[in-house]
Amino acid sequence: AAPEAPDARLTPMMAQYLEIKHANPDCLLFYRMGDFYELFFGDAEIASRTLGIVLTKRGKHAGEDIRMCGVPVDRAEDYLQRLIAAGHRVAVCEQQEDPAEARKRGAKSVVKRGVVRLVTPGTITEETLLEPGRASLLAAVARVRAGEGWTYGLAAVDISTGAFTVAEASEGALAAEIARLEPREILVPDAILDEPALRALWRETRAHVTPLARDGLDAASGERRLCAFYGVSSLAGFGAFARAEIAAAAAAVAYVERTQLGARPPLSAPAREAADACMAIDAATRASLELTRTLAGERAGSLLAAVDRTLTPAGGRLMAERLAGPLTDAGAINARLDAVAWLVDDPAARSAFRSALKRAPDMARALSRLTLERGGPRDLAGLRDGLAAARSLGAALAQAAVLPAELAQAGAVLRGMDGALEAALAGCLADELPLNKRDGGFVRAGHDPALDDARALRDESRRVVAALQARYAEETGARTLRVKHNNFLGYFVEVPQAVGETLVKPPLNAVFVHRQTMQGAMRFSTAELGDLESRIASAADRALALELAHFDRLREMAVAGAAGLKAVAAALARIDVAAALADLAEAGGWVRPAVDDSLAFAIERGRHPVVEAALKRDGQPFVANDADLSAPEGGRGGRIALITGPNMAGKSTFLRQNALIAVLAQMGSFVPAARAHLGVVDRLFSRVGAADDLARGRSTFMVEMIEAAAILNQATPRSLVILDEIGRGTATFDGLSIAWATIEHLHETNRCRSLFATHFHELTALARRLPRLLNLTVRVTEWQGDVVFLHEVAPGVADRSYGVQVAKLAGLPRAVVDRARMILDELEASERQAPVDRMVDDLPLFAAARPTAGFAEAPAGADPLRDALKAVDPDALSPREALEALYRLKAAA
Ligand code: ADP
Repeated sequence: AAPEAPDARLTPMMAQYLEIKHANPDCLLFYRMGDFYELFFGDAEIASRTLGIVLTKRGKHAGEDIRMCGVPVDRAEDYLQRLIAAGHRVAVCEQQEDPAEARKRGAKSVVKRGVVRLVTPGTITEETLLEPGRASLLAAVARVRAGEGWTYGLAAVDISTGAFTVAEASEGALAAEIARLEPREILVPDAILDEPALRALWRETRAHVTPLARDGLDAASGERRLCAFYGVSSLAGFGAFARAEIAAAAAAVAYVERTQLGARPPLSAPAREAADACMAIDAATRASLELTRTLAGERAGSLLAAVDRTLTPAGGRLMAERLAGPLTDAGAINARLDAVAWLVDDPAARSAFRSALKRAPDMARALSRLTLERGGPRDLAGLRDGLAAARSLGAALAQAAVLPAELAQAGAVLRGMDGALEAALAGCLADELPLNKRDGGFVRAGHDPALDDARALRDESRRVVAALQARYAEETGARTLRVKHNNFLGYFVEVPQAVGETLVKPPLNAVFVHRQTMQGAMRFSTAELGDLESRIASAADRALALELAHFDRLREMAVAGAAGLKAVAAALARIDVAAALADLAEAGGWVRPAVDDSLAFAIERGRHPVVEAALKRDGQPFVANDADLSAPEGGRGGRIALITGPNMAGKSTFLRQNALIAVLAQMGSFVPAARAHLGVVDRLFSRVGAADDLARGRSTFMVEMIEAAAILNQATPRSLVILDEIGRGTATFDGLSIAWATIEHLHETNRCRSLFATHFHELTALARRLPRLLNLTVRVTEWQGDVVFLHEVAPGVADRSYGVQVAKLAGLPRAVVDRARMILDELEASERQAPVDRMVDDLPLFAAARPTAGFAEAPAGADPLRDALKAVDPDALSPREALEALYRLKAAA
């Protein structure tokens, strides 16, 4: 006999489930059954493991138990959040008719169900799933041919606010752009996922990578898609876009449409970001400077946490965005600084603005939820309160005689808004609001007479219930008689069993109709209660219908004014950031940096904001330090400061504080210094002698070298480079040689402003040969045999490294400390440094020593090492294999 087709044994419900699951294979399916979302088969296993909920069984499918687990609908958001955080995508499938409807169609028919939305890491809008101060970006990558290679487009959409940007990037710049945006989810066509040069990027990004099966949309079909989405006939009105940008933007929009299933988030028209508008900061630099999160991934302890004094969620997001993308245009930077300076100078205005801002909720996100039909009464109230705050801020700004352009523009937006929506919201909404519009009660009493009538009837009926209960108790003599309500019986009378026995007999059985016998209790209905039931139900229904009509009217008004509301929200955020930075500047005694297009970098009495704050909590002072890396008058490049000093002296702190000051200045903030003059930095690099990264199969040394290579290949005379202990991860002479060559390359070729901390005191001799190299040291003194850190940076060279003293401070056993000191004395007596010191004068300079022609012409086969080298295919090697190959080659040399 032919084997039975599996479908033949399916229950109708399972058949429906499998069909829906089949259409959404890459998602966990939340299948609505009454008060639960159920998950089946593999989905159930994943969910039970991720959420720690019980896995059960329900019937059989194809001879096997059907694994199942469920989450209650009213707690679904919490579970959704955890699944999304774990990188899953969820399709939410709802019942789309009343179960009674299905029963009418026949015993075997199932309730109609359909997927209403896909929840993915980059497309969430629920307040509970979003972090208030952080954008929730969905990014999309696309690429198009450009000559020999490719050019990439990167689009970033925040459907929780409607923000939409696009940019073009080279393959090399893509990683840094993605690191700046920090998307939650990134859409990558398979072909780009497989690109060897980008594989590490997809592996290491914090974002959830969603592969797109096809090669993505091309520019022409992308343009059609975008035009359709915005209902325009051409994109020309939005600006001029590169082909790669259009392809990426269209991929993002297509995905938004797919996940939102017809609901339309209020996406702004895509705004184009110029590739060089922001300081280029690669992912390693961001991590090492702990700009928006610490190395451990926390916000607390980051620069952002130390400087963010914004009062609104939107302000917090803008602050994070600006910190992550400092500007490179001196004019734009100074415009922001003008606003901060004005607010520093007028503390009264600032505190007035800030108290208005305190009352401004997250309008952009409330608006987005309303537009997507996911909003509730509290979102309407968010708009109402935001508009009120905007109005009072607009009035306060109008008081000022002269305003800097940034604030004047924001003020004009605030004053330009139409008051009709605010008035409508304020007139209609009650003071206490339910989360869900279906709970009703959000329309103010007295606003709508018809609603007031319906409510009165409903409430009156409730009093009638109470009166009936008293009367029935009297008539039956049962003091414990209660009138109750459930969905099955409606209103009913419940009495103890003993009383119940008397109600089923005449004369009382004429009034009380027996319905149910429970353990120890009996339930009855009456004609009066039935009557009441329908009166109450219809009054409540009418009241709710009226309320919902008000909701829809207000929602439509808000959606119609979306563009204006978003402009108001953005203006509030800009004012919030400027006022927050002014507050910070005043509290910390920060100064306005002079920012221009020179190659200056002169900081007087600079401080590290995060270390300073940490020390302050312990009651410790922070020692301010100067740094001057400015290109000499008429010089063609910046200076390199070589910093020596023992461990724990404060070298890393000094290095980083100067990088942070550049970031702060270019984001438009005052800086923690007594004076600062800096010429715009185009790229910032920071590398710290890396810790072993065995998880990625790389040694410390390999990581260091990969990162140093990135700097030496990319830094321009406009860049700022911070290198901390480069070369530490290998044997002394290897490390010294690499550090030496690196400094020479920075000095001669990159010519960038640099800070270089090192243990190799020998390198300080280079200052004799390299005119723009200066030696700095972090001073320490000795007191009774112990080292005392002064944290003071001064010209000069550390006289010794104090390693033994630091080891003693760290609690190394006394015997080891003494022995180490003896060995050190021996070594120092033998003048280990002398030969290196002489070499500095003898060795030809970097440029002269560079290999020249002739290298490539050596006959093949003449040199086994060369052959071995040729056999290496760098693209095919894992980092570990590359390292091993390097060792082999080195051994053969
Ligand atoms: P290094 O890089 O030389 O080993 P760090 O920069 O890590 O030293 O500094 C070690 C510790 O010294 C810091 O954690 C901080 O507590 C303290 N420190 C560093 N710089 C200063 C300073 N300028 N003023 C006060 N304390 C400092």
